[in-house]
Amino acid sequence: MSEPLISLRHLSKFFSVERSVFGRTTSVLKAVDDLSLDIFPGETFGLVGESGCGKTTVGKMLVSLHTPSAGEIWYDGCDLAKLSTKARRVYHRDIQLIFQDPYASLNPRMTVGDIIAEPVRVNKLLPANKIDDRVGYLLNAVGLPANSRNRFAHEFSGGQRQRVGIARALAMEPKLIVCDEPVSALDVSIQAQVLNLLSDLCGEFGLTYLFIAHGLNVVKHVSDRVGVMYLGRLVEVAPKRELYNNPLHPYTKALLSAIPVTNPAHRKERILLEGDVGSPIDPAPGCRFSSRCYAKGSCASCACDTVMPELVEVSPGHFVSCYLFDGDGRSQQPPG
Ligand code: SF4
Repeated sequence: MSEPLISLRHLSKFFSVERSVFGRTTSVLKAVDDLSLDIFPGETFGLVGESGCGKTTVGKMLVSLHTPSAGEIWYDGCDLAKLSTKARRVYHRDIQLIFQDPYASLNPRMTVGDIIAEPVRVNKLLPANKIDDRVGYLLNAVGLPANSRNRFAHEFSGGQRQRVGIARALAMEPKLIVCDEPVSALDVSIQAQVLNLLSDLCGEFGLTYLFIAHGLNVVKHVSDRVGVMYLGRLVEVAPKRELYNNPLHPYTKALLSAIPVTNPAHRKERILLEGDVGSPIDPAPGCRFSSRCYAKGSCASCACDTVMPELVEVSPGHFVSCYLFDGDGRSQQPPG
């Protein structure tokens, strides 16, 4: 396999929480806790988890909207924290973000043409007389008519606005795009169109995606590998086919069981999680999923409540953080 384009090494992001009346920081919210991950050139890595699990925070650290509290981000073999100002500028050009809400992310006072042209102009990517052609090319690439350039964001539907957001990201000629739940604000009928567009653009522009979503059904169609997060930790990472056919972590199994199935022959029993969702504020030691885990009692010797399980490789490319699976690929007792 080629060298990773992005390597996250023990990445953490903690937020201070003021709880006392004197404004003293008494607690720490661990949004992302010791996350390590490689993303390879040309792949689409799906990052999945419920709201508040820290997946968007990972994306924001990648595009430098958040500074990591600990850990490293390596880009193309270089530590981001040690890049020169000039190299950092190139990094910020190479890594772009597509936002969840296409309406809020577009300036209502600018025409679509200006929105797409602005990053090209500011970063001096093209001579002034070539920018119009580039805008036309990008509008065509995302399936919008050329005359869209003179219109404003409010004149478009949600799906068309997201296409404008995609064109704006492409304008910087990025290598990696962080897609932060790009279809969750869209009608179901439009979601498939935008997902197909992103897949097509991936090949056409040689892109790499970090695709963030809260459901495994969305990333199934676009991802090469999938990572599942729970309360700031990665709990399972595997190639797409392996994860959907052979999920190991109890939380991944519960997420998969929640996907609606149209064919009754393929319908599986729904795993309903009980218990309270743990808090990312001063989390208890032990497995973050332990308060809701239906498989916890099946291994008497497991330290579920006291020590956090490591993410270990149980088969080639398949990593899981659960005491029920050891590092040799053997299940002590399969859950579910
Ligand atoms: Fe459940 Fe224990 Fe595995 Fe955590 S480590 S998922 S609590 S069995």
